[in-house]
Amino acid sequence: MPPANRHEPKRAKSSHSDYSVTEFLAEFPDDAACLEHLWRTRYSPDGEHAHCPRCDGEKVFKRYATKQGRQSWTCTACGLHVHPTAGTIFAKSSTSLKLWFHAMYLMTSTRCGISAKQLERELGVHYKTAWRMFNKIRTELMKDDALPLKGNVEIDETGVHGRPRGPKMTKKEAAQWRERQVSVLGMVERGGRVKLRVIESRRGEPLSGAVRANVNPDAIMFTDDWGAYKPLAREYAGHNVINHSAGVYVWGDIHTNTIEGFFGNLKTGMRGAYKAVSQKWLQSYLDEYAWRYNHRTYGPRAMFHALLDEAAR
Ligand SMILES: [Zn+2]
Repeated sequence: MPPANRHEPKRAKSSHSDYSVTEFLAEFPDDAACLEHLWRTRYSPDGEHAHCPRCDGEKVFKRYATKQGRQSWTCTACGLHVHPTAGTIFAKSSTSLKLWFHAMYLMTSTRCGISAKQLERELGVHYKTAWRMFNKIRTELMKDDALPLKGNVEIDETGVHGRPRGPKMTKKEAAQWRERQVSVLGMVERGGRVKLRVIESRRGEPLSGAVRANVNPDAIMFTDDWGAYKPLAREYAGHNVINHSAGVYVWGDIHTNTIEGFFGNLKTGMRGAYKAVSQKWLQSYLDEYAWRYNHRTYGPRAMFHALLDEAAR
């Protein structure tokens, strides 16, 4: 279990209401129920009528199993088959829908996330299968929405280390370890969404380019007095600077406490749920963490269904 986190932002009451595994399994007891859900969500709200592209009109569809055991719905007027998983992350997967749904349930039912190793244990699948599902869900369903942040936006950067190899590092090893430190830029709307980006450098274009790409020019920026933010000031509606280098952390509503608190949680989460996050997967880890934060007011059931809706798009 990840350590309890005292920096955790206050959550909406609804998020404490439980969505137990029993309730989840009652809703999705088998592959057929999962498929039916995709069919209704993607094609047929009443489960029977859908738009047939070949007939170019609304027709009655009947469920039908192919010889390979693959389920599809067939247009009763022209015989066209519709596969509810087409174009989703479940298409062409040999893993059952029930396991996919269960993996999504597990990934949304813990506060700090779950590792592929934990999925392997909970689902009773091979590690490779667990990792593939985990990675697909994370990179395809929890990816950033690409909508720029607006309003009052706090921006800050932090260094993320890989795990040191052991407690007794030589000076050289310690230096190499510091060199591998990666900078992460965090941008958060006060009371709203967060975006995280791995950046090559905390200076110049890598930093300012990431801000421009993720924060709307109408926004009011809140940053510390790090020089790399200064050139951005004239491109934004406002820029409030808190003078950290002079030891000032809050001046009225000028502070970067939201993003700093977020970074604190992020680092605790990284220590808890994952043994180490390699650089290769860091951005997708950050996206998953941001996704969770951006759905923080959802209860567990709503969070699972938000992920499911993303999968059913
Ligand atoms: Zn038809």
